[in-house]
Amino acid sequence: MASRRKVIQTLASLPFIGAFLGPNTLSANPGTAAVVSNVRRDFFKELGLRTFINAAGTYTSMTGSLMPKEVIEAISYGASEYVNLDELQDKVGERIAELLNCEYATVSSGAFGAMSIGMAGIMCGMDTKKVKQLPNTKGLKNEVILQESHTIGYAQALTNVGAKLVKVKTAKQLEKAITKKTVMLWFLNANTDQGDIKWEEFIALGKKHNIPTFIDCAADVPPLENLFRFTKMGFDLVAFSGGKGLRGPQSAGLLLGKRKYIEAARLHTPPRGETIGRGMKVNKEEVLGMLAALEIYLKKDHKSEWEMWESQIQLISDSATSIEGVESKIHVPKHANHVPSLRIKWNQNLVKISPDEVRKQLREGSPSIQTVGDSKTIGITTWMMVPGQEGIVANRIKEILSNT
Ligand SMILES: *Cc1c(COP(=O)(O)O)cnc(C)c1O
Repeated sequence: MASRRKVIQTLASLPFIGAFLGPNTLSANPGTAAVVSNVRRDFFKELGLRTFINAAGTYTSMTGSLMPKEVIEAISYGASEYVNLDELQDKVGERIAELLNCEYATVSSGAFGAMSIGMAGIMCGMDTKKVKQLPNTKGLKNEVILQESHTIGYAQALTNVGAKLVKVKTAKQLEKAITKKTVMLWFLNANTDQGDIKWEEFIALGKKHNIPTFIDCAADVPPLENLFRFTKMGFDLVAFSGGKGLRGPQSAGLLLGKRKYIEAARLHTPPRGETIGRGMKVNKEEVLGMLAALEIYLKKDHKSEWEMWESQIQLISDSATSIEGVESKIHVPKHANHVPSLRIKWNQNLVKISPDEVRKQLREGSPSIQTVGDSKTIGITTWMMVPGQEGIVANRIKEILSNT
């Protein structure tokens, strides 16, 4: 749909074709006319903003991912009718649980929101008086044990609702750190390899001491199997971002797992007002968009998508390394952002430009291209691009690196 609109828009903006079609051709059908005039309003341009090719990945600062047209349709369907919010979440929760073969689910405000409401749910259970007191944890268990290597900024989702983090390195230390106030064990999937304690042992420790376990899998699709794997393995709660690999609304997420904890988590969400989660609202548009995105993700041809990413990365790599002194490495992160990724570096005696300057020129060129990396490399992924843009990126990088 988007591309058809674009064609219409482009045709209408060409004076010759516009004249050829005649002034009334495009508005002959009133529906079409509305579409055309809608699309003509270029909000970003009006606001003085530049759009860009996303060769970086799923970053909140870059507005995440682009939603498939079925997701956009689900959102606009939702926007046109009223429905009871709790009933909608109930039904969609059951539907997602069925699709993902887990006990229960809810659509949250991002993975961060899923962690906050999941944490709050575990702390307060179904006690509505406790629900109202957060982030004050007086009289509540509030200690969360995690591995030191799993500590990241996103753990703020837990401390925001009143949790205290207790960091350990080994299984032995973890068992010793358990107190009467221990309420949950938290695992960061992205840092699985950095930690001493792996999934199964972590879950077993939780079961042994009767403490619920929660895993942050925000950036862990692909692979598709991860949507099933961790609930099946025995984690009580699992959080995913809705707007990363799943390509749902960027402000949505999924909380999956044990029904009793998810029902308790829901007590902290709108429409209920006196709650820590009142500001983490997800409305019908995001709930439906998330469901549609998940359904599409489960159905799509992951193998051919993966092959497309590989060939796109290869194209950009070949283009960059055709310049003397430039080398590249194609890699796939094992956990989180598990997609073909490219690192480009060069001998700065031969190619006299810094990676920072290359990133700047890519960003400031036309079209603007966003990449990542550090002081020695340029980092690129293609999974967030619109197919076809890889050629533009490949040419531009070659051009910049050869004009030094
Ligand atoms: C992106 C991310 C989050 C936050 O997810 P949102 O969906 O943006 O709320 C949390 N944890 C990790 C590891 C992430 O990568």
